[in-house]
Amino acid sequence: MATCDFCGVVEDDPAGALTWATSVEKGVRRSYCTDCSREHLRSLEAKLDSEWW
Ligand SMILES: [Zn+2]
Repeated sequence: MATCDFCGVVEDDPAGALTWATSVEKGVRRSYCTDCSREHLRSLEAKLDSEWW
């Protein structure tokens, strides 16, 4: 089970969570759902912390 660190949606299906984006910010592993990762793909690729989105 994964929880989106941006919108808080919960994915119960481990297979679905595989499509989620993950990043490490300040040593903390974060997960983002497919909708959020698509919406914020540019910020993720730039390795910006989500607080700057
Ligand atoms: Zn989300």
